[in-house]
Amino acid sequence: MDSRRRTVFQTSLMSALLDGVYDGDLTVAGLLEHGDFGLGTFNALDGEMLVLDGVCHRLRADGTAERASLDDRTPFAVVTPFEPTVGFDVTSRMSRADVVAQIIAREDSQNYLFAVRVRGRFESVTTRTVRKQQKPYPPMREAVKDEAIVTFEAVDGTVAGFRTPLYERGIGVPGGHVHFIDDEFTAGGHVLDFVLEHGRVDICKGTDLQLRLPLNESFGEADLDPADLDDQVRNAENSRPPR
Ligand code: ZN
Repeated sequence: MDSRRRTVFQTSLMSALLDGVYDGDLTVAGLLEHGDFGLGTFNALDGEMLVLDGVCHRLRADGTAERASLDDRTPFAVVTPFEPTVGFDVTSRMSRADVVAQIIAREDSQNYLFAVRVRGRFESVTTRTVRKQQKPYPPMREAVKDEAIVTFEAVDGTVAGFRTPLYERGIGVPGGHVHFIDDEFTAGGHVLDFVLEHGRVDICKGTDLQLRLPLNESFGEADLDPADLDDQVRNAENSRPPR
């Protein structure tokens, strides 16, 4: 078993985001001190975040992307210094489920955090992106109702994020949570599904979790242990909203 220690840094909790804590006090500059790879969102849920090679991208609800400002703030983000520990080439068409099965087959255990990066040619990537919210903030289950779904086809890009152990429910997003950006850094979003034509998958095993909690009133007053937490996470992260 690989014995090197690697820290995954996270600001705030998924359960806080679900409860409508959409403003954080950590800047992008502060976040990037903890890693060159990761994902999250921005204050007021103004777009999805993807950090690749030390650059923080903002993916907006209309499917466009731009480089985030170092002064922008995040209410929830997870980053790590990305150092591939395991990887494999994909030479034939694979669904998201196929890629996940291959990743699981190569991990030595499901009990760590894994940063995952998939680079290549995608037949399709289906994404959704939160819309900027106005105060008073609704809980996530309301906020995702009007989110936009965008499907990119025949596109070169990167799908990146984390596989998080189920015991982290409430802290993070249990299972897979990945965002997409194209190679031109002009479009992307939170990934619902993809089909990879060919490419490369790299995985970085995280052994340590550094958790930073926001010092503000909305976090202090949030309900962080609701009875229907699992349903809320599923609704917010993994499923398509009702149409
Ligand atoms: Zn996301």
